[in-house]
Amino acid sequence: MKNIDNFQGKKVLVLGLAKSGLAAAQLLHKVGADVIVNDMKPYEENEAAKQLEAIGINVICGHHPEDLLEQEKIEWVVKNPGIPYSNIIVKQAQAKKIPVITEVELAYYVSEAEIIGITGSNGKTTTTTLIYKMLKEDGQNPLIAGNIGNVACEVVQQATKDNVVVMELSSFQLLGTIHFRPHIALLLNIFDAHLDYHGTKKEYMLAKQRIYLNQTAEEYSVFNANDKNVKELVQDSKGKPIAFSTNQKVNGAYIHEGQIYFGNEVIMEASEIVLPGEHNLENILAAISVVKLRGVKNESIKAVLTSFQGVKHRLQYVATVKGRRFYNDSKATNILATSKALSAFSSPTILLAGGLDRGNEFDELKDAMGHVKAVITFGQTAPKIERIASELGIEKIKRVDNVEQAVYAAYDLSNEQDVILLSPACASWDQYKTFEERGDIFINAVHKLK
Ligand code: ADP
Repeated sequence: MKNIDNFQGKKVLVLGLAKSGLAAAQLLHKVGADVIVNDMKPYEENEAAKQLEAIGINVICGHHPEDLLEQEKIEWVVKNPGIPYSNIIVKQAQAKKIPVITEVELAYYVSEAEIIGITGSNGKTTTTTLIYKMLKEDGQNPLIAGNIGNVACEVVQQATKDNVVVMELSSFQLLGTIHFRPHIALLLNIFDAHLDYHGTKKEYMLAKQRIYLNQTAEEYSVFNANDKNVKELVQDSKGKPIAFSTNQKVNGAYIHEGQIYFGNEVIMEASEIVLPGEHNLENILAAISVVKLRGVKNESIKAVLTSFQGVKHRLQYVATVKGRRFYNDSKATNILATSKALSAFSSPTILLAGGLDRGNEFDELKDAMGHVKAVITFGQTAPKIERIASELGIEKIKRVDNVEQAVYAAYDLSNEQDVILLSPACASWDQYKTFEERGDIFINAVHKLK
């Protein structure tokens, strides 16, 4: 970890704890800041606050005192990415020109290792995992961090020059950056997402663009040549542009006549890849573009791509039961993700879908449902999904109470060679705490069938 002195003796407010706020407060304390924590969770239930208090940090819990900035003469605010910019303290800080950052900015300040930053609307976790695995296979010393679950400012504290930090970044995290400058920045794609937080698509795109913002000619800006929004955003980058594409020759990774290339070099046959889906091909080409910039050998790339079956809950192959292949895509919490999952298969498919109702209709799913022979629905959106299924003339439509029943109902309607796919197109919160819980219930039910 680098020794930094820019927070020495400075009053820093950590707004919002959770895992990342806790780590940020600890790091700031370590580098000599005078840390104050403000978290909405009441003190009695707030284990993180108690832990910080024990090392001498001042904690204020249960509410956001409106005069906090004034009272405490705060000089910096480190905001939890989930806290919106409409928060009263954030608004006041911005009005007073107090810098408001997220913990990834802190991570950048103290990291001795180069950072590879990965963002996009969809595919971040899969691509981050692919990059990590390829680097690891090649004998480099990657550390995985960020939105994927390992708090960045905690991970980088162990990083040395011999490591490389592979960091998944959300738009919320990127919004709170100032100097953050990854050695390799990757922007996968831009779809309409999180518009409730960002307000407009333009604002959302500008947040994503921050991954390139501080790059210079010493760094690389990797981008998806097939995404017009991404292409527009990379144009302002001063980093070296490296493109990837599923359908055209570019200077990075692409596919040509069934082979995967990086520049003029053949890497491997596309048919040897085990991870299903056109969207994953994009993630794979993106990952190859990144790791080739770090000199990863083709055999290391190939070793990963001929074995890696996907991240849990993302179009994850679960098992084959009497000739029926079961896939868990519980992470598909929007229509686009489910469309992508459906188009990964051409065999007759039974779709298991439904969940939290956010007020949208599902007509956009229809185009991807040509090979769907039956639909099993559950959750709040069941009637809406049944409507589009019946409009498509799908005869077998069944509503059940939950995902476990959906597995058994799907099996009853299935034949050998069918694909049975959980890809709900909705968030899980009407019935399950998380998409992970929903996916685990699916997996367990499939194993019970066996
Ligand atoms: P993220 O971390 O960005 O949410 P994940 O890798 O967890 O992305 O994938 C989430 C879902 O998004 C997957 O279930 C898949 O259906 C879909 N998806 C993954 N990669 C892409 C892509 N490149 N383009 C479109 N959709 C994708």
